[in-house]
Amino acid sequence: MFADLHLHTCYSDGTYTPEELVAEAHRLGFVTLAITDHDTVEGCPAVASACAVRGLQFIPGVELTAEYQGLEVHILGYGFDIEDATFLEQMARFQAIRQQRIRDMVARLNEMAIPIRVEQVMALANCRAPGRPHVARALVEAGVCRDLDEAFERFLKKHRPAWVPKSKISVPEAIQLVHRAGGVAVLAHPGLYYVDPVLPELVRAGLDGIECFHTKHTPAVTERYLSWAGRLGLLATGGSDCHGYSKGKPLLGSIRVAPEFVERLQQRIATRRAQLASRKS
Ligand code: AMP
Ligand code: FE
Ligand code: FE
Ligand code: ZN
Repeated sequence: MFADLHLHTCYSDGTYTPEELVAEAHRLGFVTLAITDHDTVEGCPAVASACAVRGLQFIPGVELTAEYQGLEVHILGYGFDIEDATFLEQMARFQAIRQQRIRDMVARLNEMAIPIRVEQVMALANCRAPGRPHVARALVEAGVCRDLDEAFERFLKKHRPAWVPKSKISVPEAIQLVHRAGGVAVLAHPGLYYVDPVLPELVRAGLDGIECFHTKHTPAVTERYLSWAGRLGLLATGGSDCHGYSKGKPLLGSIRVAPEFVERLQQRIATRRAQLASRKS
Protein backbone atom coordinates (compact mmCIF):
# COMPACT_ATOMS: atom_id res chain seq x y z
CA MET A 1 0.00 0.00 0.00
CA PHE A 2 3.02 2.28 0.38
CA ALA A 3 4.77 4.94 -1.68
CA ASP A 4 8.25 6.31 -2.21
CA LEU A 5 8.10 9.86 -3.54
CA HIS A 6 11.80 10.76 -3.69
CA LEU A 7 13.86 8.65 -6.06
CA HIS A 8 16.77 9.25 -8.43
CA THR A 9 17.51 7.31 -11.62
CA CYS A 10 20.44 7.11 -14.04
CA TYR A 11 18.96 10.21 -15.77
CA SER A 12 20.60 12.20 -12.93
CA ASP A 13 22.89 10.91 -10.19
CA GLY A 14 21.13 7.63 -9.41
CA THR A 15 22.37 4.29 -10.72
CA TYR A 16 19.08 2.45 -11.37
CA THR A 17 17.61 2.44 -14.86
CA PRO A 18 13.84 3.08 -14.88
CA GLU A 19 13.19 -0.66 -15.37
CA GLU A 20 15.51 -1.69 -12.52
CA LEU A 21 14.00 0.88 -10.17
CA VAL A 22 10.42 -0.17 -10.84
CA ALA A 23 11.25 -3.90 -10.68
CA GLU A 24 12.92 -3.40 -7.30
CA ALA A 25 10.10 -1.21 -5.97
CA HIS A 26 7.55 -3.78 -7.12
CA ARG A 27 9.52 -6.55 -5.40
CA LEU A 28 9.52 -4.51 -2.18
CA GLY A 29 5.75 -4.10 -2.37
CA PHE A 30 5.44 -0.41 -3.28
CA VAL A 31 2.25 0.67 -5.06
CA THR A 32 3.12 4.30 -5.86
CA LEU A 33 6.38 5.85 -7.07
CA ALA A 34 7.51 9.36 -7.92
CA ILE A 35 10.93 9.97 -9.43
CA THR A 36 12.68 13.23 -8.59
CA ASP A 37 15.82 13.48 -10.69
CA HIS A 38 17.91 16.63 -10.36
CA ASP A 39 16.96 19.17 -13.07
CA THR A 40 15.49 16.68 -15.52
CA VAL A 41 12.26 14.81 -16.29
CA GLU A 42 13.79 12.63 -18.99
CA GLY A 43 13.36 9.46 -16.92
CA CYS A 44 9.63 10.00 -16.39
CA PRO A 45 8.22 8.38 -19.56
CA ALA A 46 10.22 5.17 -19.07
CA VAL A 47 9.36 4.93 -15.36
CA ALA A 48 5.70 5.63 -16.17
CA SER A 49 5.67 2.75 -18.70
CA ALA A 50 7.46 0.37 -16.35
CA CYS A 51 4.98 1.28 -13.59
CA ALA A 52 2.04 0.71 -15.94
CA VAL A 53 3.36 -2.75 -16.85
CA ARG A 54 3.58 -3.78 -13.18
CA GLY A 55 0.41 -2.01 -12.06
CA LEU A 56 2.10 0.67 -9.97
CA GLN A 57 0.85 4.24 -9.78
CA PHE A 58 3.36 6.81 -11.09
CA ILE A 59 3.70 10.50 -10.26
CA PRO A 60 6.11 12.59 -12.35
CA GLY A 61 8.55 14.63 -10.29
CA VAL A 62 11.75 16.64 -10.25
CA GLU A 63 14.23 17.97 -7.67
CA LEU A 64 15.29 21.58 -8.23
CA THR A 65 18.25 23.27 -6.58
CA ALA A 66 17.22 26.65 -5.23
CA GLU A 67 18.57 29.24 -2.85
CA TYR A 68 17.01 30.90 0.10
CA GLN A 69 18.92 33.64 1.91
CA GLY A 70 22.26 32.21 0.80
CA LEU A 71 21.28 28.67 1.76
CA GLU A 72 20.96 25.83 -0.78
CA VAL A 73 17.45 24.46 -0.56
CA HIS A 74 15.95 21.66 -2.70
CA ILE A 75 12.42 21.95 -4.04
CA LEU A 76 10.54 18.88 -5.22
CA GLY A 77 7.96 19.33 -7.97
CA TYR A 78 5.15 16.79 -8.43
CA GLY A 79 2.42 16.12 -10.96
CA PHE A 80 3.30 18.91 -13.41
CA ASP A 81 3.09 18.62 -17.20
CA ILE A 82 6.43 17.08 -18.19
CA GLU A 83 5.95 18.45 -21.71
CA ASP A 84 5.36 22.05 -20.64
CA ALA A 85 7.55 24.16 -22.96
CA THR A 86 8.60 26.81 -20.40
CA PHE A 87 9.41 24.14 -17.86
CA LEU A 88 11.53 22.18 -20.36
CA GLU A 89 13.36 25.36 -21.43
CA GLN A 90 14.31 25.94 -17.80
CA MET A 91 15.47 22.33 -17.39
CA ALA A 92 17.68 22.75 -20.47
CA ARG A 93 19.13 25.90 -18.92
CA PHE A 94 19.86 24.15 -15.58
CA GLN A 95 21.42 21.24 -17.45
CA ALA A 96 23.72 23.60 -19.41
CA ILE A 97 24.80 25.16 -16.10
CA ARG A 98 25.50 21.68 -14.69
CA GLN A 99 27.57 20.70 -17.77
CA GLN A 100 29.65 23.89 -17.57
CA ARG A 101 30.16 23.29 -13.86
CA ILE A 102 31.58 19.82 -14.61
CA ARG A 103 34.10 21.44 -16.99
CA ASP A 104 35.02 23.99 -14.30
CA MET A 105 35.42 21.34 -11.60
CA VAL A 106 37.58 19.17 -13.85
CA ALA A 107 39.72 22.24 -14.68
CA ARG A 108 40.25 22.80 -10.95
CA LEU A 109 41.31 19.17 -10.49
CA ASN A 110 43.66 19.40 -13.48
CA GLU A 111 45.27 22.49 -11.92
CA MET A 112 46.03 20.23 -8.94
CA ALA A 113 47.67 17.75 -11.36
CA ILE A 114 44.79 15.27 -11.06
CA PRO A 115 44.40 13.84 -14.56
CA ILE A 116 40.60 13.54 -14.86
CA ARG A 117 39.08 14.29 -18.25
CA VAL A 118 35.76 16.02 -18.94
CA GLU A 119 34.86 13.31 -21.49
CA GLN A 120 35.44 10.66 -18.84
CA VAL A 121 33.04 12.36 -16.38
CA MET A 122 30.44 12.97 -19.09
CA ALA A 123 30.66 9.34 -20.26
CA LEU A 124 30.26 8.15 -16.67
CA ALA A 125 27.32 10.48 -16.13
CA ASN A 126 25.74 9.51 -19.46
CA CYS A 127 22.94 12.00 -18.85
CA ARG A 128 22.09 15.67 -19.41
CA ALA A 129 22.13 16.57 -15.71
CA PRO A 130 25.62 15.61 -14.50
CA GLY A 131 26.67 16.55 -11.00
CA ARG A 132 29.32 16.27 -8.34
CA PRO A 133 28.63 12.55 -7.73
CA HIS A 134 29.76 11.86 -11.31
CA VAL A 135 33.02 13.75 -10.75
CA ALA A 136 33.39 11.76 -7.54
CA ARG A 137 32.89 8.48 -9.42
CA ALA A 138 35.59 9.52 -11.92
CA LEU A 139 37.96 10.25 -9.02
CA VAL A 140 37.33 6.78 -7.59
CA GLU A 141 37.73 5.14 -11.00
CA ALA A 142 41.06 6.94 -11.48
CA GLY A 143 42.24 5.63 -8.12
CA VAL A 144 42.54 9.15 -6.67
CA CYS A 145 39.93 8.49 -3.98
CA ARG A 146 38.80 5.33 -2.23
CA ASP A 147 35.10 6.18 -2.32
CA LEU A 148 32.61 8.94 -3.04
CA ASP A 149 32.73 10.23 0.54
CA GLU A 150 36.47 10.78 0.30
CA ALA A 151 36.02 12.55 -3.05
CA PHE A 152 33.45 14.91 -1.50
CA GLU A 153 35.49 15.44 1.67
CA ARG A 154 38.76 16.17 -0.12
CA PHE A 155 37.60 17.95 -3.27
CA LEU A 156 33.92 18.48 -3.91
CA LYS A 157 32.21 19.69 -0.75
CA LYS A 158 31.45 23.39 -0.40
CA HIS A 159 34.71 25.37 -0.08
CA ARG A 160 36.88 22.35 -0.94
CA PRO A 161 39.44 22.88 -3.78
CA ALA A 162 37.38 21.54 -6.70
CA TRP A 163 34.05 22.91 -5.52
CA VAL A 164 32.43 25.30 -7.95
CA PRO A 165 29.36 27.25 -6.82
CA LYS A 166 26.27 26.66 -8.92
CA SER A 167 24.11 29.61 -9.90
CA LYS A 168 20.69 28.89 -8.48
CA ILE A 169 17.16 30.15 -8.77
CA SER A 170 15.39 31.45 -5.68
CA VAL A 171 12.90 29.31 -3.79
CA PRO A 172 9.92 31.46 -4.93
CA GLU A 173 11.14 31.10 -8.53
CA ALA A 174 11.37 27.32 -8.17
CA ILE A 175 7.84 27.21 -6.72
CA GLN A 176 6.51 29.36 -9.57
CA LEU A 177 8.21 27.20 -12.17
CA VAL A 178 6.47 24.09 -10.81
CA HIS A 179 3.10 25.85 -10.38
CA ARG A 180 3.12 27.25 -13.91
CA ALA A 181 3.56 23.72 -15.26
CA GLY A 182 0.57 22.57 -13.20
CA GLY A 183 2.49 20.95 -10.36
CA VAL A 184 2.81 20.99 -6.61
CA ALA A 185 5.95 22.32 -4.86
CA VAL A 186 7.37 20.60 -1.80
CA LEU A 187 10.37 21.51 0.36
CA ALA A 188 12.79 18.56 0.20
CA HIS A 189 14.38 17.12 3.36
CA PRO A 190 13.97 20.22 5.59
CA GLY A 191 15.83 18.40 8.36
CA LEU A 192 19.05 18.79 6.34
CA TYR A 193 19.03 22.56 6.59
CA TYR A 194 17.52 24.75 9.24
CA VAL A 195 14.78 26.78 7.59
CA ASP A 196 12.08 26.35 10.23
CA PRO A 197 11.84 30.07 11.05
CA VAL A 198 11.09 30.95 7.43
CA LEU A 199 8.56 28.18 6.75
CA PRO A 200 5.58 30.57 7.05
CA GLU A 201 7.27 32.85 4.53
CA LEU A 202 7.78 29.95 2.12
CA VAL A 203 4.10 29.11 2.46
CA ARG A 204 3.26 32.69 1.48
CA ALA A 205 5.53 32.18 -1.56
CA GLY A 206 3.25 29.29 -2.56
CA LEU A 207 4.92 26.24 -1.04
CA ASP A 208 2.43 23.35 -1.00
CA GLY A 209 4.17 20.82 1.18
CA ILE A 210 7.17 19.62 3.14
CA GLU A 211 8.96 16.32 2.96
CA CYS A 212 8.45 14.94 6.44
CA PHE A 213 9.57 11.35 5.87
CA HIS A 214 13.16 11.08 4.66
CA THR A 215 16.02 8.65 5.24
CA LYS A 216 18.08 11.32 6.99
CA HIS A 217 15.25 12.45 9.29
CA THR A 218 15.22 10.98 12.78
CA PRO A 219 11.77 10.11 14.17
CA ALA A 220 11.88 13.34 16.18
CA VAL A 221 12.62 15.39 13.06
CA THR A 222 9.80 13.68 11.18
CA GLU A 223 7.42 14.48 14.04
CA ARG A 224 8.56 18.11 14.05
CA TYR A 225 7.78 18.52 10.33
CA LEU A 226 4.48 16.66 10.56
CA SER A 227 3.58 19.16 13.25
CA TRP A 228 4.71 22.09 11.05
CA ALA A 229 2.67 20.66 8.16
CA GLY A 230 -0.40 20.49 10.39
CA ARG A 231 0.04 24.03 11.68
CA LEU A 232 0.71 25.58 8.27
CA GLY A 233 -1.80 23.52 6.29
CA LEU A 234 0.97 21.98 4.21
CA LEU A 235 0.97 18.58 2.55
CA ALA A 236 3.29 16.05 4.13
CA THR A 237 5.30 13.90 1.71
CA GLY A 238 8.25 11.58 1.94
CA GLY A 239 10.71 9.35 0.19
CA SER A 240 13.96 7.50 0.59
CA ASP A 241 16.07 9.75 -1.72
CA CYS A 242 17.45 6.50 -3.11
CA HIS A 243 20.33 6.98 -5.57
CA GLY A 244 20.67 3.25 -6.29
CA TYR A 245 24.18 1.95 -5.66
CA SER A 246 25.70 5.44 -5.76
CA LYS A 247 26.50 5.47 -2.03
CA GLY A 248 26.57 1.82 -1.04
CA LYS A 249 23.30 0.02 -0.44
CA PRO A 250 20.15 1.32 -2.20
CA LEU A 251 17.85 3.23 0.16
CA LEU A 252 14.70 2.08 -1.60
CA GLY A 253 12.50 0.40 1.00
CA SER A 254 13.80 2.45 3.94
CA ILE A 255 10.88 4.90 3.75
CA ARG A 256 7.28 3.82 3.19
CA VAL A 257 4.80 6.63 2.88
CA ALA A 258 1.21 5.79 3.85
CA PRO A 259 -1.58 6.10 1.24
CA GLU A 260 -3.34 8.99 3.03
CA PHE A 261 -0.38 11.29 2.23
CA VAL A 262 -0.35 10.19 -1.41
CA GLU A 263 -4.10 10.81 -1.71
CA ARG A 264 -3.76 14.37 -0.42
CA LEU A 265 -0.87 15.02 -2.78
CA GLN A 266 -2.91 13.65 -5.70
CA GLN A 267 -5.88 15.83 -4.74
CA ARG A 268 -3.66 18.94 -4.67
CA ILE A 269 -2.18 18.01 -8.06
CA ALA A 270 -5.69 17.62 -9.52
CA THR A 271 -6.68 21.05 -8.17
CA ARG A 272 -3.53 22.68 -9.56
CA ARG A 273 -4.01 21.02 -12.96
CA ALA A 274 -7.63 22.17 -13.09
CA GLN A 275 -6.60 25.75 -12.22
CA LEU A 276 -4.01 25.69 -14.99
CA ALA A 277 -6.48 24.28 -17.54
CA SER A 278 -9.08 26.96 -16.71
CA ARG A 279 -6.45 29.70 -17.03
CA LYS A 280 -5.35 28.39 -20.43
CA SER A 281 -8.88 28.16 -21.85
P1 AMP B 1 25.27 18.64 -7.23
O1 AMP B 1 23.80 18.63 -7.52
O2 AMP B 1 26.10 18.48 -8.43
O3 AMP B 1 25.68 19.83 -6.39
O4 AMP B 1 25.55 17.34 -6.34
C1 AMP B 1 24.81 17.13 -5.17
C2 AMP B 1 24.53 15.65 -5.02
O5 AMP B 1 25.70 15.02 -4.52
C3 AMP B 1 23.45 15.32 -4.00
O6 AMP B 1 22.21 15.25 -4.62
C4 AMP B 1 23.86 13.96 -3.51
O7 AMP B 1 23.23 12.98 -4.30
C5 AMP B 1 25.34 13.88 -3.77
N1 AMP B 1 26.20 13.88 -2.58
C6 AMP B 1 26.35 14.84 -1.64
N2 AMP B 1 27.27 14.47 -0.72
C7 AMP B 1 27.71 13.23 -1.07
C8 AMP B 1 28.64 12.30 -0.52
N3 AMP B 1 29.35 12.57 0.58
N4 AMP B 1 28.83 11.14 -1.17
C9 AMP B 1 28.15 10.86 -2.29
N5 AMP B 1 27.25 11.69 -2.85
C10 AMP B 1 27.03 12.85 -2.26
FE1 FE C 1 21.50 13.57 -5.74
FE1 FE D 1 18.11 16.80 -2.25
ZN1 ZN E 1 17.22 13.84 -3.91
